Parts: sequence; C-alpha cells; structure tokens
Amino acid sequence: MDGPIDRRAPEGPVAFVGLGNMGSGMAANLAAHGVVVRAFDLDPGAVRRAAEAGCTPVASAAEAAAGAAAFITMLPAGEAVAAVWREAAFPVLRPGALVVDCSTIDLATTRALAGEAEARGLVPVDAPVSGGIAAAAAGTLTFMVGATDEGFERVQPLLGHMGRAVLRAGGHGAGQAAKLANNLLLAATMVATCEALLLARKLGLDPRAFYEIAARSSGQSWSLTSYCPLPGVGPESPADRGYQGGFATRLMVKDLRLALAAARDAGALTPMGERAAALYEAFAAEPERARLDFSAIIQALA
Ligand code: NAD
Repeated sequence: MDGPIDRRAPEGPVAFVGLGNMGSGMAANLAAHGVVVRAFDLDPGAVRRAAEAGCTPVASAAEAAAGAAAFITMLPAGEAVAAVWREAAFPVLRPGALVVDCSTIDLATTRALAGEAEARGLVPVDAPVSGGIAAAAAGTLTFMVGATDEGFERVQPLLGHMGRAVLRAGGHGAGQAAKLANNLLLAATMVATCEALLLARKLGLDPRAFYEIAARSSGQSWSLTSYCPLPGVGPESPADRGYQGGFATRLMVKDLRLALAAARDAGALTPMGERAAALYEAFAAEPERARLDFSAIIQALA
C-alpha cells in the first residue's frame, strides 16, 4: 500500500503528546498542513517551541485529548505510552476517535492498549516510523501501520502530513512488529557489513574496490550502499562525519532489546539478532559511544 498519500484534513483538532527530537518536527508538520494541533510534553520548553511552530499549547495530555478527533503519542517507552493513553486519553476521547502511537515500544503493550482502546469504542493504530530526526523535521518519515481497515483508511491523511510513505503491515501490533523485525535486520546487516569491509582490508583489498564489487554482487545491502560504515567509501554517511548525527547506538540497543523480547514471546529463533545485540550492548556501555551513530560499531571490530 505504497500508493499516493491521502491528504484529507482530519475532522477536528488533533492531540500530540511527546514533542522531543521526533515529535517536535512531526507536530510542526501537521500544523504546517493546517491541522489544529494541541501539543503537550512534560518539558515546558518543548511545548513553547511547538507553539512557535504553529501548534496550540495545552497544559496536560488530558486537555489535549478532550474532544480531539485523533490523539497521537511519540514517547520514549511503553510505560509512558500506556500511562498517557490510559490516564489522559481514554477517559476523555469521544467514541470513534483515532488513538495513534508512533513511538517504538514493546509489542505486548501495543497489543494490550489496542484491545483496551477498541473496547472503549476508540480506533487504535500503531504507526512506528523509520527515518530519524531529519526525516521527522522534513516530513519524509516512513510509517509502518498496524490497524483495522477502517483505522488505516482514516489515519492515512494524518500520517501523510508527516511522512512520504504510509505502509500497512497488518492488524493491531503489526506496525510495531514490522519496526522491530526491520531494526533487528538492520543491526545484523550493519555488523556483517562492518566485518566484511574490515576483512577485505585485512586481505589486502582497497575497501573502495571491495565496495564497488559487493555493491553489485549478492552481498549488497542498505547498510553497505546507503550507509557505509567506513569513511570515504560509498555515498556520504555518518561515518564521514565522525559518526555524529544519524541513528544513535543507544536507540539501536533499545530497539534490539524490544525485538528480542518479542522474539522470546513468539518462540522465534534469533541467533544473529542476539549476537548483534550483545555487540551493541557492549559498545554502548560507554556513554560517549552510545551517542554515536550505530554504524560506529565498526570501531569495536577494527
Ligand atoms: P525524545 O526523548 O527526544 O522525546 C520524547 C519526549 O517525550 C520528550 O520531550 C519527553 O519530555 C516527552 N515525554 C516523556 N514522557 C512523557 C509523558 N508522560 N507525557 C508527555 N511527554 C512525555 O525521544 P525521540 O527521539 O523523539 O523518540 C521518540 C520515539 O520515537 C521513541 O520511541 C523512539 O524509539 C522512536 N524513534 C526515534 C528515532 C530517532 O532517531 N530519534 C527514530 C525512529 C523512532
């Protein structure tokens, strides 16, 4: 479902809770498209910045939710999403309202919240994102959506204001499942890409020559050809900027923990994911490294 994005306006104000690195850009893009965005964050500075970007500042998540057509969260973890949905949104949202979580959180919480929301006549949607802070600011995120047919139909215009691809993964929880599986794949291919580049160099190859060959051979991957972890090889990537910016290693560790927990619950075997997670955990133990882009894992292997 990667067709043209539906950009109809929602049928009322939209609540946006969680105005951090990602949510600030997303809320600003909604407002820029003419949506009335009631913005709340525990950090008053974040609310002030959202107001400067065209949102309506409010004093609590419940105030944002009252009478809203849609309620969106972009928060750090499942506990925060559950607390905000249950304590602020559920008591005041009108029946039929969309409840959309764009955070990356644990699958068990996503599924539990969807069940509770549906039981209250609300329309829950899990819509985690791919693309970092720059994509959130530019409105070019990819959304991976878990929803009913009705939920997907109704959430598309909203998400279309914040992203360039709105992809349906399946029913409730499927968006979150897709996000976790994708990031496990990304972590494992990044580690393998680092290994292969370093191996080629140890074997006497010029890494740029190896890159040109692997890029056109069966070893090709996004980690190699869009995000090469060696500076000076391939298109510009965080490696060329000292591993600054990009996708922080600490966030990759978080996503891997969530993916492995989901795998355990589902009885799935993930030996590569576990190895990648162990390497990332060890690398991120030092706070300076935890802040670097996740392709800096090459430093642990060099
Ligand atoms: P962040 O820490 O910058 O922002 C989170 C915001 O939530 C903060 O401003 C915080 O004050 C606010 N907050 C926390 N608890 C709250 C509560 N109970 N009520 C109201 N506000 C509350 O995090 P971020 O980088 O914006 O990431 C948000 C989510 O997006 C995470 O789940 C993350 O895994 C996911 N994500 C991040 C990236 C990225 O590159 N940063 C990429 C993809 C997905």
